[in-house]
Amino acid sequence: MSTHPNWKQLHVAVVGGGLGGMAAAVALRRAGHKVSIYERRDFKVEVGASISCAYNGGQWLREWGVDVKRGKPVNLMKLTMRDWETGKILNQYDLDHYEENWGLPYYMFHRVDMHEMLLECATSPDGPGEPASVVVDHIAKSLDEEKGIVTFENGEVVKADVIIGSDGIRSVLRKEIGVIPQMRSAPQTCYRCNVKKTDIEKFGLMADAVDPAIQFWGGFTKGDINRYYKIVMSPCSDGEIVSFYCFMPTEMTNHTQEGFVFEEVPVSDIMAGMYSRLDPQAQGLIEHSIDRMPWRLYVHQPYPYWHKGKAAILGDAAHPMMPHQSQGACMAIEDAAALGIIFGKEYDFTSNVEAGLSFYEHIRKPRATRVQAASARATENLNERIGFTSLSAPDAALAAKEGKLTVNEMNEYNMHDHIAKEAKEFKHLYASPHGSPKAQTAKLSA
Ligand SMILES: Cc1cc2nc3c(=O)[nH]c(=O)nc-3n(C[C@H](O)[C@H](O)[C@H](O)COP(=O)(O)OP(=O)(O)OC[C@H]3O[C@@H](n4cnc5c(N)ncnc54)[C@H](O)[C@@H]3O)c2cc1C
Repeated sequence: MSTHPNWKQLHVAVVGGGLGGMAAAVALRRAGHKVSIYERRDFKVEVGASISCAYNGGQWLREWGVDVKRGKPVNLMKLTMRDWETGKILNQYDLDHYEENWGLPYYMFHRVDMHEMLLECATSPDGPGEPASVVVDHIAKSLDEEKGIVTFENGEVVKADVIIGSDGIRSVLRKEIGVIPQMRSAPQTCYRCNVKKTDIEKFGLMADAVDPAIQFWGGFTKGDINRYYKIVMSPCSDGEIVSFYCFMPTEMTNHTQEGFVFEEVPVSDIMAGMYSRLDPQAQGLIEHSIDRMPWRLYVHQPYPYWHKGKAAILGDAAHPMMPHQSQGACMAIEDAAALGIIFGKEYDFTSNVEAGLSFYEHIRKPRATRVQAASARATENLNERIGFTSLSAPDAALAAKEGKLTVNEMNEYNMHDHIAKEAKEFKHLYASPHGSPKAQTAKLSA
């Protein structure tokens, strides 16, 4: 790969050091830029549950040389659908050939491990590119996107060539670029909790909870059991922890807040409504759980745009989605990858940052919006989840024709080719005197 003569190093300020922000820091560091990450909290308060990382996310970890073992992944071998009341296996999507087919396993990380893995890669003195710097306890307050200036609540002011707003679902930078989200509280709320493998052994709980699989209970209406009752269970952290997402209709919960830092809730909060009729094996696990936290969910409509001036949004700030395709973090990783390629040495977008960010939105928005919509559909019916879509319509082409999101569609996508193909035409349109950059993007998308 030859370096474009107009390429130059940029100073990038990444605001929000979650999974997407860390991925962006790694991608942009690898692309040759100087990256500073500003995070509102201290990472010590990080808690969390499992984050599955399918091939479409994993391929970028490989390309960036991330030490995946550091994230203590479990390599998934199955997606298993179980009956809410009996636990009987209703359907199974086999991942036995996943690694053979795609070249990488389907990873399951614990969020904390995944975050540490990315943080280390972004900041390590080893590996290509300048190590990114991390500044904690910095809450972004306002943005001047034309000048490239972020002001923090502590009074500090930072100027950069590019500003990436990876500040999550309640993004301040999104508001600052003028995007007002159309959102509503989801009809479903989540409690996440963890069970230690040692407790499963000690108390003689469901032995196959530690199988390398994502196991689901419920997720579609059955008799008087509402479709919003659903459990997603999976081992992570080298199999030492089994993580649970326990979903239920929002009206069954007392929790109106959302976020990471809460008081742990009692088991009785989870065991509401139809949880009294849940498979006794799954009940046993939840009764021995730790780290029980509520997680409010919101349904967002796609935003009109993702960038303005020298700033762009990424990850949940740009396309928050329901968690039912397990793709939120993977989409944030893809966003990061797109930024790394676009501002990479092969192209000359570094000489026109606004054009580069406009191109980033052009490349990423259609695919992320499609996943966002499919995540909303999978809220209503587990059969819409990637993987299970190929069981109800085993022919991938047929499933795609029906608009369903499939493993093939997610994993066959080649972002390098997509960017190479579109870059020429995009630059041509962008350079044209007709219309604003946004109008040009719309024209190209049409
Ligand atoms: C129940 C559930 C299960 C999920 N399971 C999966 C899964 O299996 N697979 C998957 O791919 N995805 C999953 N996701 C989605 C995934 O967790 C998110 O999509 C992903 O974390 C988004 O990354 P992000 O960096 O955009 O946001 P976050 O990881 O939320 O990071 C945002 C960061 O910005 C910081 N911040 C916020 N405001 C400011 C500010 N003003 N100034 C400075 N910093 C700020 C925050 O402290 C945080 O560190 C799940 C989500 C949910 C709710």
